[in-house]
Amino acid sequence: MAICEVCFRHCSLEPGQVGFCGARIGSGSKVTAKNYGVVSAVALDPIEKKPLNRFFPGSMILSVGSCGCNMRCRFCQNYEISWSQQAMDHAGRWGSLTPGELVQLAEGYKDRGNIGVAFTYNEPLVGYEFVRDTARLVKQAGMKTVLVTNGCAEEKILEQLSGHIDAMNIDLKCFNRQTYKEQLGGDLETVKRFIAGAVKFCHVELTTLVVPGISDDPRELDAMTDWIASLEDAQSRNVGADIPLHLNRFFPRFKMTDCRATDIGVLKALADRAAKKLKYVYTGNC
Ligand code: SF4
Ligand code: SF4
Repeated sequence: MAICEVCFRHCSLEPGQVGFCGARIGSGSKVTAKNYGVVSAVALDPIEKKPLNRFFPGSMILSVGSCGCNMRCRFCQNYEISWSQQAMDHAGRWGSLTPGELVQLAEGYKDRGNIGVAFTYNEPLVGYEFVRDTARLVKQAGMKTVLVTNGCAEEKILEQLSGHIDAMNIDLKCFNRQTYKEQLGGDLETVKRFIAGAVKFCHVELTTLVVPGISDDPRELDAMTDWIASLEDAQSRNVGADIPLHLNRFFPRFKMTDCRATDIGVLKALADRAAKKLKYVYTGNC
């Protein structure tokens, strides 16, 4: 039996047993990444699509997905690669790349404006070893590294990435502990610790998908923006108001097709409210 210490779930795994995320497996006294090198999707995307609006704007980034996720958002648009059972069902169909091969691929796209590699689409940190190993090589090649994450990994995983990741977009899906747990399968306190730690070593932007009934309460948004505005960098300087926040419009999808899309007026009102505390607030999917 081994305990996985990558995320807040701390799965206890017998040898051969796969964890909740579908990406990690018990192996004697250790837990290893079953998805190491598995690549489910590769695309050259504008960096604003991550979304990152204040990190090399106008550039492109080679975006790579693997499989597995430790959350269970019922509106997940990438459920085929993220939800455990589906991810395992598809894993055999996908290709694989070594970190070195991925860096070569990224370098080959430089003439199309590529600045590096973004780890995205599923939750990258359930396979943090591949992210860490690849990011190291990308940096050695003089390119940039981006992580798009739900922020549910433990601080010791974040520490392993320090110095290897240049920018992150981190989901802050709502600001209510119970909703995070019961509706989304995540852990708000872990996400807050992760964000506070990431701000100390790389560029950070945050994303909230504004879902009716889950993350559209103005008072909750006030508490969220107060907390963001209080964040400090590694020198204990208050930098929170400079952290960009993306408020994105929700559309019915996956297991939430009976829910209405976010009203654009509601989204804009929330953005105006957030802009009283934060300098850079963007609306998306409008
Ligand atoms: S990363 Fe996966 S196996 Fe590890 S604790 Fe989280 S859900 Fe469980
Ligand atoms: S965190 Fe992202 S990938 Fe994971 S279930 Fe939620 S929306 Fe899907």
